[in-house]
Amino acid sequence: ENSVDFSQVRAQFPILKVVENGQPLVYLDSGATSQKPLRVIEALDTYYRQENANVHRGVYGLSERATEKYEGARETVKQFLNAKSTKEIVFVRGTTEAINLVAHSWVSENLTEGDEVIVTEMEHHSNIVPWQLLRDKLGIRLTVLRMNQKGEVCLNALKGLVSEKTKFVSVTHMSNALGTINPVKEMVEIAHSVGAKIMIDGAQATPHMTVDVQDLDCDFYALSGHKMYGPTGIGVLYAKEDLLEVMPPYQGGGDMIYSVTFDKTEYNVLPYKFEAGTPHISGAIGLAAAMDFLNEVGLDNIAQHEAGLLAYATEQLSQIEGLRIIGEADKKGGVVSFVIEGVHPHDMATLMDQDGIAVRASHHCAMPVMQHFNIPATIRASFGVYNNFEDIDRLITSINEAKEMLV
Ligand code: PMP
Repeated sequence: ENSVDFSQVRAQFPILKVVENGQPLVYLDSGATSQKPLRVIEALDTYYRQENANVHRGVYGLSERATEKYEGARETVKQFLNAKSTKEIVFVRGTTEAINLVAHSWVSENLTEGDEVIVTEMEHHSNIVPWQLLRDKLGIRLTVLRMNQKGEVCLNALKGLVSEKTKFVSVTHMSNALGTINPVKEMVEIAHSVGAKIMIDGAQATPHMTVDVQDLDCDFYALSGHKMYGPTGIGVLYAKEDLLEVMPPYQGGGDMIYSVTFDKTEYNVLPYKFEAGTPHISGAIGLAAAMDFLNEVGLDNIAQHEAGLLAYATEQLSQIEGLRIIGEADKKGGVVSFVIEGVHPHDMATLMDQDGIAVRASHHCAMPVMQHFNIPATIRASFGVYNNFEDIDRLITSINEAKEMLV
């Protein structure tokens, strides 16, 4: 039994009262972006109504208060991830920017021709393309850790893959296309055993489970605010302080400097060295409100709630003739991807929209996953704190009705 009343949690999301095509919205696309609780919406509203000013510059009260709020948000993130220091928390646009920052800074500084980066076969394009760009520029190798038919990677295969040439490993904590949760702590140990650094893409994991970067001992961890009930356009790069200390800046501009002359620029202290230009102040404040929300509901309660939804959806979907679930990892988060014999995923999703059901039909920015399973796309239902069994019942009814029309 869960101690949290999730109907009360759902009630905090105004958008779920929206009517779509004459039906109350069933939102099953949290893997793409989550909806926002009142607490986050109000944090943004309050900031713009009462507190808006640029940070780190003004001597006047308003600017000092904006700075306090922005730096307070950094403290919230630090605690949320259990980082050692706020110096290790860099605000970025999202997971994509965090990965590109590390690629252009630590990795391009430390890898040379013949060195190797390892990723898994289940990565989002944002954790593939930056490494290909570097491969073409630096002559490094990009090696892929393959997955099995259940959509899992094997730790022994990773042990066999790493060598003294491996300088960097970048893996997703949870797959957006399949829901697979990777054994990242063990992967960190394997990367470190050959002296490689490791980055974890936490875009999908952070809304669903507790993340402790000190316990994981990862070198870098990336997250996106919009996937975890916060605003778009804000995310976090966590990095160990000693790495950030020696890394060159990713972008130059205001705020990231200590002093500038035309001959020489001295960089600001951490984490500001990596935050060029006016930051997304309201975004950071909104993200902190989202983290407060997650803490209040409790990530363990959320994980339990979503595991119940996943089990129920899997059981119900399995009874539909011709439906095949893609990705059956033993450890899975609240994502279920599937295909239906003789039906194109886009046609199915279009009909489901008529029933007010928002699911995604696509390659989910993970085309190699589709190639692995030899399919063009899947229909994906992904769950959040607000979903309930009724949502899944409506999903199943809608699939059955759409199937009648399409098959
Ligand atoms: N990695 C994973 C696993 C994702 O699901 C996503 C978003 N779909 C990203 C990275 C990229 O995140 P963003 O678009 O917020 O930068």
